[in-house]
Amino acid sequence: MCKNIFFDLDGTLIDPRMRLHSLFQELAPESKFSFDEYWKIKRQRINQKKLLTEWFNYPDEKIRKFKRIWMEKVEEPHRLKQDILFGYTKNVLANLSKKYDLYLVTARQFEDRANSQLDDYKIKSFFKKILVTKQKKTKAEMIKNNFSYYSDDIFIGDTGEDVLAGKELGLKTVAVYSGCLSKEILKEYNPDLIVKDVGEFYENSSL
Ligand SMILES: [Mg+2]
Repeated sequence: MCKNIFFDLDGTLIDPRMRLHSLFQELAPESKFSFDEYWKIKRQRINQKKLLTEWFNYPDEKIRKFKRIWMEKVEEPHRLKQDILFGYTKNVLANLSKKYDLYLVTARQFEDRANSQLDDYKIKSFFKKILVTKQKKTKAEMIKNNFSYYSDDIFIGDTGEDVLAGKELGLKTVAVYSGCLSKEILKEYNPDLIVKDVGEFYENSSL
């Protein structure tokens, strides 16, 4: 029986796409990508390096600089304010937290900023613990080092890495295509379940 549910943050519980698109435009001013154009490309698992090389001819040195500044800026507090809490998130977390222990596992760099964002959305109290990798550990390592978990527990996220982390731990994996990747790309990682978003997951699950 499922006891613990591990949630990714960006693209799973909140929508960071506006923040990421606007930062891209800022750092690559030659880009004329609209929000939709940018995400249509990104959702095909085109990473930054490939995008900057193939669309804008960036040399390696310029890509390294882009990446460094990206990491410096991407979690600036005023940018995080562009994120949007998905409409179903609060309700789903409130309901699930009555029966299960919920954990948030995010690859954000700044623990304090992630926490204050969750506070702003009033969803922090639904989680038993907030795990922030600070880009120093993998999500699987964070969970392994901190908790007991069971093979019926669930890991929900919007990326291939999330599915692989869940599989590494032997958990049930749920992929949502409300974030970074398309349904077709997520299928390649073979999660136990693929759903549009966390709202649909909750409605259709027997949890
Ligand atoms: Mg994510």
